[in-house]
Amino acid sequence: MECVVCRQGETKDGSTTVTLERRGVTLVVRSVPAQVCENCGEEYVGAEETTRLLSLAEDAVRGGTRFEVRDYVAA
Ligand SMILES: [Zn+2]
Repeated sequence: MECVVCRQGETKDGSTTVTLERRGVTLVVRSVPAQVCENCGEEYVGAEETTRLLSLAEDAVRGGTRFEVRDYVAA
């Protein structure tokens, strides 16, 4: 798709690292599938991945984790 930030680049399949902060918990998830703009580097994480990330964050909150780094694993 066309990048909505720079409006010049096209996005390509790639991956990114997402940091989530919820209720005092910091969760860093690496290797999240994303569309990355070849021009400006803006990263777009899809709805499915976002839902998965939010559920991972909820798990971390329930588990009493304060800080965690993990690799993304598809549901
Ligand atoms: Zn761009």
